[in-house]
Amino acid sequence: MSKLKAATAFVDKQALQHNLALIKSKAPASRVLAVIKANAYGHGVIQVARSLENADAFGVARIEEAVKLRESGIDKPILLLEGFYDADELRLLSRYNLETVIHNVEQLLAIDEQSGLSEPLKVWLKIDSGMHRLGIDPEQLPYFLERIEICDKVQKPIRFISHFACADELDNPATSEQVQRFLTSIKGLEGERSIAASAGILKWPESHMEWNRPGIILYGVSPFDFANAEELGFLPVMTLKSKIISIKTVRKGEPVGYGASWITERDTNVAVIAIGYGDGYPRTAPYGTPVWINGRKVPVAGRVSMDMLTVDLGPDSQDKVGDEATLWGRELPVEEVAKHVGTIGYELVTRLTSRVELSYVECD
Ligand SMILES: *Cc1c(COP(=O)(O)O)cnc(C)c1O
Repeated sequence: MSKLKAATAFVDKQALQHNLALIKSKAPASRVLAVIKANAYGHGVIQVARSLENADAFGVARIEEAVKLRESGIDKPILLLEGFYDADELRLLSRYNLETVIHNVEQLLAIDEQSGLSEPLKVWLKIDSGMHRLGIDPEQLPYFLERIEICDKVQKPIRFISHFACADELDNPATSEQVQRFLTSIKGLEGERSIAASAGILKWPESHMEWNRPGIILYGVSPFDFANAEELGFLPVMTLKSKIISIKTVRKGEPVGYGASWITERDTNVAVIAIGYGDGYPRTAPYGTPVWINGRKVPVAGRVSMDMLTVDLGPDSQDKVGDEATLWGRELPVEEVAKHVGTIGYELVTRLTSRVELSYVECD
């Protein structure tokens, strides 16, 4: 029997480094702020940060993640992509030398009123260039700049940041419009700029500025629905595996699993794999979602349980209890699994639970 523990996500550090190098070659004039929010999209934030030694800076979404990185000895610049949520966090920004986005007036006033900062804060002002999620309207910019100019708690020059809504749609004019709105709003101002995330880096060269912010392609997952990352030259970093813990022959016309939602159409061999929604494998994976076993794809058949799922091996299968199953990764692109499930690769890798062991390997 395989020594593999149930539900292990193998994280390939060399693939991570390959992907970063490829990103740099696609935008050689831009520095890379590697986005490692949400536990590095499920890959383990500390290990990923240590592997990405050629990144110029890191971006996270929560201050706890930034503090954890600092306490693990990571000394590269770290940016809070959504800024701080509460004025209490300002002391931590200062203490741990963290950079912050400002996207609203409340954050600006909180900085203004904060006393006892050891040094002026490094700030990126977020401009809403059309996504209408975070960021200030370009018309509010003069007000913000005036306030910032006289605020000695902010280091000058500040930087400018914005974010695309539709960069994964190559024929959507919104992306070029966002670039223009962003550039027009900050024209003539001193300060470095950043707008491109993965899709911008790959397909919108006009969006490459002093800083790019790749997330998903670092992990070898595509931001697009028309191509897997591997087709774009990237290598999948995570391979999620478990193993077969039971095989039984089920007669034609018999139900399998909760709710009897799948009925066999022939006598067949059904395998139980030790992974389920308790590990973050989606319960909504329908019949036919592929699982890679012994060199072929077999369909998920029957409802995904908390700790297990069932697949139809077919009537002539040679598989044995203890054999490995790959849920996604090297042999089976996560993008393909995501399409069956009706979601995106981003969500599948990010939502693994803490029960899944992360195991770091260096493949070639
Ligand atoms: C998550 C995020 C990114 C990275 O996006 P990807 O599509 O994963 O490359 C970049 N910038 C900001 C502000 C983000 O929130």
